Amino acid sequence: MLSLQDGELPWDSPRQRTSLDPDDWQILRKQGHQMLDDMLNHLATLSEKPVWQPAPLPARTLFDAPLPVEPTAMADVHAIFRDNILPYGSGNIHPGFMGWVQGGGTVAGMLAEMLAGGLNANLGGRDHMPIEVERQIIRWTRQIFSFPDTAGGLFLTGASQANFVAVLLALGRKLGADVRAKGLSNGARLVAYASNEVHGCVPRACEMSGIGSDQLRRIPANSAGQIDIAALERAIIRDNNEGHTPFLIIGSAGTVNTGAIDDLTALRSIANAHDLHFHVDGALGALGILCDDLAHLFTGIQSCDSLAFDFHKWGQVPYDAGFLLVRDSTWQRQTFASDAAYLSRAASGLAGGDWWPCDYGPDLSRGFRALKTWFTLKTYGLKALGDSMAANCALARGLAGRIEREPALRLLAPVALNIVCFAYVGPGGDAPPQVNARIIEHLHAEGRVAPSLTHFNGQPAIRAAIVNHRTQQADIDALIDGVLKLGSRQDLLQC
Ligand SMILES: *Cc1c(COP(=O)(O)O)cnc(C)c1O
Repeated sequence: MLSLQDGELPWDSPRQRTSLDPDDWQILRKQGHQMLDDMLNHLATLSEKPVWQPAPLPARTLFDAPLPVEPTAMADVHAIFRDNILPYGSGNIHPGFMGWVQGGGTVAGMLAEMLAGGLNANLGGRDHMPIEVERQIIRWTRQIFSFPDTAGGLFLTGASQANFVAVLLALGRKLGADVRAKGLSNGARLVAYASNEVHGCVPRACEMSGIGSDQLRRIPANSAGQIDIAALERAIIRDNNEGHTPFLIIGSAGTVNTGAIDDLTALRSIANAHDLHFHVDGALGALGILCDDLAHLFTGIQSCDSLAFDFHKWGQVPYDAGFLLVRDSTWQRQTFASDAAYLSRAASGLAGGDWWPCDYGPDLSRGFRALKTWFTLKTYGLKALGDSMAANCALARGLAGRIEREPALRLLAPVALNIVCFAYVGPGGDAPPQVNARIIEHLHAEGRVAPSLTHFNGQPAIRAAIVNHRTQQADIDALIDGVLKLGSRQDLLQC
């Protein structure tokens, strides 16, 4: 495409420049400020807009465009975003969103994303300051969860990946470093344990690791949604007797259905007794430890061998920002460190540095997730984050109380944290259960609040997961009013 004269370099001629930087930084600066203002305006007026609305066909069609071989002015590209993407998000930043466990994001995190994008840091390794920011987060998370100084950790996309990496660490501990070269070929019939309320990414982690999801024993949960400890012990003893090799217990610190937290102290002592790795999936709940009122619920979490949690859920850091904390960072090195020549380390200089994240997890190229997390923690402070979690829980408790006072509603599970599951049963208690699915669809279409559908004993139920720091009592009231109004509509099951 470029035709250069002999001896001419591309940057000699403005017409033939090959850099993607702008010719005129002033025009770009103005455009950048406009984009920033638009986004801040959007965030400042969220509650005046619907939580969700379906994207119209023309917007979708725009994203079936031909390959953009020629350039487009950034102002025009931004206009497409502003008119066709921005209004049609999934709504998790909106105060009325309570459908799934998703964080609301923060302005500090958003601005940090811009800075991180400008720096375009690659946190695979080497000696540069962004690595120190990730190490700062590791040190802070050690402190938050009372882990020892030997503990390591790193950012991953989310708890799905963190749980997967934890399964690999546990395999390495049970089978030795050899498993990296030999695979699972030695015939050991490995078994992991979790409650039947465990998140779906845990069986998938077992599949991805090669042990297979049949090797994950789903132990029944008690009426509080916690793993049945006695049933767990019986299962381990039976598996041992039958020649299996138990290697891993996965406890939940906040189940996705009801927010239940397993008895982590009991799980630790069972893991000790049977020489098992004890991992905790704290994706949605673990950061609740930042809230003084909730901290006692997580007793025992400081004793686990590895902990997965998401800054992008209750921590409100913009997506994605999953984290894995590991009691002994040598388990990570044993599982991931490589001596590839192109990754050779120098004693000093840019290729130096004594902590290369690529030795501690599966990724080589890694973004600067640490910066938006550092900005969020530093800007708001842990106390404000804990207070917003306490407010979520207070709203959840209030919602549960209101449900128990309404004859047409039924609370389906105890409220441990910030998740409330209930059903519309009608004033006489005889409304058909399917009405709940219809109510939710109508609420989504109305756009004021967005709960989600789940199932209890095979029956559809309404789930409100209150995770967003922007959610207020008015949003909870709108949920109850909307459910009662829609539930009483005779036509709802017909349409
Ligand atoms: C969200 C969630 C996960 C998965 O985490 P991602 O960050 O979405 O990968 C795992 N476990 C629980 C309990 C969750 O709530």
